[in-house]
Amino acid sequence: PTILAIESSCDETSAAVIRGGKVLSNIVNTQAVHEQYGGVVPELASRAHQQNIIPVVAQALLQANVNKSELNAVAFTRGPGLLGALLVGSSFAKSFALGLNIPLIDVNHMQAHILAHFIDDPKPQFPFLCLTVSGGHTQIVLVKDHLDMEVIGQTTDDAVGEAFDKTAKMLGLPYPGGPMLDKMAAQGNPKAFEFPVGNMPAYNYSFSGIKTSVLYFLRDKTKNDAAFVQENIADICASVQKTLIKTLLKKVVLASKELGVKEIAIAGGVSANSGLRRTLQEYAAKYNWNVYIPAFQYCTDNAGMIAIAAHYQYLKGDFASQYVSPEPRLKI
Ligand code: ATP
Ligand code: MG
Ligand code: FE
Repeated sequence: PTILAIESSCDETSAAVIRGGKVLSNIVNTQAVHEQYGGVVPELASRAHQQNIIPVVAQALLQANVNKSELNAVAFTRGPGLLGALLVGSSFAKSFALGLNIPLIDVNHMQAHILAHFIDDPKPQFPFLCLTVSGGHTQIVLVKDHLDMEVIGQTTDDAVGEAFDKTAKMLGLPYPGGPMLDKMAAQGNPKAFEFPVGNMPAYNYSFSGIKTSVLYFLRDKTKNDAAFVQENIADICASVQKTLIKTLLKKVVLASKELGVKEIAIAGGVSANSGLRRTLQEYAAKYNWNVYIPAFQYCTDNAGMIAIAAHYQYLKGDFASQYVSPEPRLKI
């Protein structure tokens, strides 16, 4: 099938065209308007999606060299995400499908982050474990089939992406903080400082505590030394990053052991983190895992991942009605 897919859950307006499971185009417009506020402003995101969506879709069709009359379905992100932002994508997709008289496919954004692994080779074998780490989620998912997934553990408070972003903000790094912190960490010593992280039962996480510990650490260190942050920023970044990565992977090791699964994938925006990618490779050698790390373009939000999810849903006959509504808290 040839499918147009739309992603609009947060601050990326994106459209992709997929044919026979092959992504032909994947246009991503990251909204710049939020930079000056240091975070995503929901109402501004909705407005930017409205401005972007038609040109982004037009560009996706053009780059794929696909005419809209060739489309077999239109897919969109149903959730989770910001309601106003989701409404722009879903309303557009519904109208487009209605106008072309083709079926509509509603996609779960978190499933799509995981299914991004099926865009290119090598593809994980079922069952595999996926550590899904993003701006709003931190989950360990047991993936039994393309559309059969079970969340076996997750954060009980903040997402790890938030921990990256908030730490970066406290250090005065510009938004978006995660990628900046990653860059700074590359030049620092990860053993310079110690930060405690909450230890939760089973495969669960807690990342709200590290925020506070970084805050107190900075408050104490800067009391008599105004230049402390400036002089130690790379070491602080490297130390925080190392702590977050160790915490994340500890539960993956546990889940892998207890469930006997050695196919291990990472997904979501934080899977772009160079420290996490490198450490996962080291664990692969140590624990005899086959690890799957997405290409950078498929880590953060993009419609290519929505398209591949839609591809499998199409094959299964899993379509949505025109009455479907966005679901900001949609679960896997
Ligand atoms: P969700 O998918 O949970 O709904 P989201 O869509 O906002 O949330 P993504 O776009 O998947 O999240 O990921 C964005 C997050 O990834 C941000 O928190 C960002 O800081 C983080 N991130 C991106 N690149 C890196 C990196 N190199 N290192 C650390 N964090 C990163
Ligand atoms: Mg984003
Ligand atoms: Fe996302």
